[in-house]
Amino acid sequence: MYGKSGVGILDTTATETLDAVVIGAGFAGLYSLHRLRDQLGLNVRAFDTADDVGGTWYWNRYPGARCDIESYWYSYSFDEDLQQEWTWSEHFAAQPEILRYLNHVADRFDLRRDIRFGTRVNSAVFNEKSRRWTVETSDDNCVEAQYLISGLGNLSLPREPDFSGLSDFTGEVYWTGRWPKARVDFTGKRAAIVGTGASAIQAIPLIAEQAAHLTVFQRTADYATPLQNRPLKPEESAAIKARYPELRREQREAYAGIPYQLEFETRARALDDSAEERERIFEARYAAGSFRLPFGSYLDVLTDLEANELAAEYVRRKVRERINDPKNAEMLAARGHPYGSRRTPMETNYYETYNRNNVELIDAKKNPILSVTRNGLKTQERDFEVDVIIMAIGFDAMSGPLLNIDIRGRGGQTIQEKWQAGPRTYLGIATEGFPNLFIITGPQSPSVFYNMPSAIEDHVEFASDCIAYMNERGFITCDATAEAERKWVAHAKEESDKTIVPLGKSYYMGTNIPGKPETCMVYTGGAPKYRGICADVVSKGYEGFSFEGAPLEDSHSTRRVAAQR
Ligand SMILES: Cc1cc2nc3c(=O)[nH]c(=O)nc-3n(C[C@H](O)[C@H](O)[C@H](O)COP(=O)(O)OP(=O)(O)OC[C@H]3O[C@@H](n4cnc5c(N)ncnc54)[C@H](O)[C@@H]3O)c2cc1C
Repeated sequence: MYGKSGVGILDTTATETLDAVVIGAGFAGLYSLHRLRDQLGLNVRAFDTADDVGGTWYWNRYPGARCDIESYWYSYSFDEDLQQEWTWSEHFAAQPEILRYLNHVADRFDLRRDIRFGTRVNSAVFNEKSRRWTVETSDDNCVEAQYLISGLGNLSLPREPDFSGLSDFTGEVYWTGRWPKARVDFTGKRAAIVGTGASAIQAIPLIAEQAAHLTVFQRTADYATPLQNRPLKPEESAAIKARYPELRREQREAYAGIPYQLEFETRARALDDSAEERERIFEARYAAGSFRLPFGSYLDVLTDLEANELAAEYVRRKVRERINDPKNAEMLAARGHPYGSRRTPMETNYYETYNRNNVELIDAKKNPILSVTRNGLKTQERDFEVDVIIMAIGFDAMSGPLLNIDIRGRGGQTIQEKWQAGPRTYLGIATEGFPNLFIITGPQSPSVFYNMPSAIEDHVEFASDCIAYMNERGFITCDATAEAERKWVAHAKEESDKTIVPLGKSYYMGTNIPGKPETCMVYTGGAPKYRGICADVVSKGYEGFSFEGAPLEDSHSTRRVAAQR
């Protein structure tokens, strides 16, 4: 999987000695670099395979790509001036605007000078003698650093297709997660899109408007609900800016980092209400858009199968109402997994797109794609001749990007060996045996069950506070204890078992990738509970972490940090 082996890496001479290496230049990488360099005074270098900043928003340029949490929440909160000077044009910004925002952040904090773009981290090996990480990159360079920060993202490694022949195809092929910078013109073309997850649901309506014909290959229908995007009026923007600190606080008090409690009372149990009252509650959330239905209607939608089915059937009914052809309506009504057990997609005109006469929906479960041919796609029942294929088949998510690098901890143990039966972490940020590795929004942290920029800020701040704590005390390494990790893995499982999440075949569970161990990789206890646990860990002197020390004068970073604080 990974390009280069780290074997023999310790013989390589490091070209640079740093305090910290950051992998990635998306939301996580940029904030990590800023925080460690500009607040702790460390010598930091970030690497990204992309040739510019942005991460997700650099790679996912497909038509319709946009965030589905309101932009004024889906953004950094760490700098009040930054919040005040940036004005979003829509409630849910499109990819180009989010990318402009991240470019603005990079410029504003002068981050680019410490990022090496177009450079992949191939391996990172912990040297037990020097107690430093040796990091080898695709430009044949090698650096050493005390700390290794993974800002690799949860959705940065596109999944491989499970059919062959893509390279034989003579037409154009695009991946939603690796979309080219130049505009793709579908005019007059016969296009096929493989997959109907969150990205495809955003892209399909816009591609259908342009292409001569669009064939959609769907394996699993999902429960998509309206996004309800609209321009953000100047007075709305001003009102948000006037109370940003308060809003951010309220945001962090919400289960998923989205403060729906300001608009709606989230009720406890769906079955406690009459059918009429439930309908009113569901209607209001559906009409208001985004994640209000799953996260802002009833708490037990995500924990009780009976309550879940009430919400699921409500969404199916809405889908049927919007589609003219009853056969398509049945195909598009989600079944076989609970509502919210896969990443809930948000849509704009998605279902109406199937009322167009240039769009055809294929049930790829009943009629699977066997291979790609020179001219199109071959399924069990029929061949499809197309000019363009769009791959929207998702990601090897959560653990995938880390497992795609040769990372070796104490005793030469690889992360692949350590996570053979599924990821094992402490708080989703550390994994025992890999000292000074901080995994921003790692497996078993709230990550994609939490508004991601907030999840990222929480983790970056946890990591940088821990580093400051170490430097103040002259500690050289910190590592999760095996016991703390065992307890956390058990606690995360206990929390996920209270929910419907394990019942879906999804990237949350690793089951979208053949052979990947089935285990819940998101912490479903909610952001406030998670934040409380982390605060408790910190207040008890980083309980669950073990530190190795050295005399204060040995730690060259320490003096800098001490001077800054
Ligand atoms: C289409 C789409 C829409 C989304 N919408 C939302 C939303 O509305 N709300 C939400 O909360 N989340 C959303 N997400 C999740 C999104 O990934 C996060 O919100 C956030 O952008 C993640 O930031 P990050 O910095 O952690 O990771 P990323 O943005 O994924 O950045 C990781 C970076 O690491 C780099 N990298 C990977 N491997 C290596 C390597 N070996 N060496 C060097 N560099 C490497 C990648 O090139 C990438 O640039 C969405 C994701 C997608 C794909």
